[in-house]
Amino acid sequence: MKHIVPNIKNAIPLHNRASENKLTRTQREGKVWLVGAGPGDAELLTLKAVRVINAADIIFYDQLVSDDIRALFPKNTPALYVGKSKNNHSIPQGELNQLLVNQARLGLNVCRIKGGDPFVFGRGGEELLALRHAGVNAEVIPGITSASGCSTYADIPLTHRGIAQGCTFVTGHAEKTLDVNWSALAQVNHTLVFYMGLTRAGDISENLLAGGLAADTPVAIIENGCRKNQRDIISDLANLPVAVVRERVQSPALIIVGQVVKLKSELVKVVEQQCMSLSA
Ligand code: SAH
Repeated sequence: MKHIVPNIKNAIPLHNRASENKLTRTQREGKVWLVGAGPGDAELLTLKAVRVINAADIIFYDQLVSDDIRALFPKNTPALYVGKSKNNHSIPQGELNQLLVNQARLGLNVCRIKGGDPFVFGRGGEELLALRHAGVNAEVIPGITSASGCSTYADIPLTHRGIAQGCTFVTGHAEKTLDVNWSALAQVNHTLVFYMGLTRAGDISENLLAGGLAADTPVAIIENGCRKNQRDIISDLANLPVAVVRERVQSPALIIVGQVVKLKSELVKVVEQQCMSLSA
């Protein structure tokens, strides 16, 4: 699907449905909805997200909003891409915040939709703060975060009685070194999910091993989770960096570390055994 990139200064919709409303655009107070799109499968959208998508005058989406979800955008609603461009530059956050403020001040219902949950490594907090400071009416609709969606679609429960009593979401994104307390993360009976960790697989493996986790701690890399082309790669902590390179893992991908990863093979085995007994 081709992206339409907005001209930040004057992104005025070609068409809007304010005319259907009893109020005219100038009389009506605009509103920005920060909408969580979930990790990819359109059926994981909430009913509320679908309602807001359908009622919006204008939609702004980023690169993690899947094609299947974009296919649900109404044909006559302008949908503008505000994610990373080919040269990997995103619209600076300050400009994007201003764009949302400006559109709401025009009296529009703005749907700002982003992958997963806006409040989990999604800059939703920054956007909401900017909107509230500007006095703009804004509301957040939570989405299924990729840790939850991808692990479920990969048959990996994030917690499991007797195996993992807790789970931590960690970002692998950092300008320089990762500001993380590795020995606190390297706990047994605990699951770790790394977002944006692909380029940091070496650091993640090295630091968790130094923090005390065993070299054979199971690891899953979930590429394109909850999409038709989801790929699950199973490895262990010592071999994580090699697996990322050998399997040519592409973004978006999540890294799950912990004994819960072993449950995947057990769950798959049960199905295989049932299939075998049915065909015997
Ligand atoms: N707000 C999002 C996270 C944005 S950070 C959420 O709640 O899920 C972007 C990172 O999320 C990616 O680098 C990747 O690690 C992860 N991610 C998002 N969608 C994904 C998907 N469909 N499959 C695998 N990882 C995904």
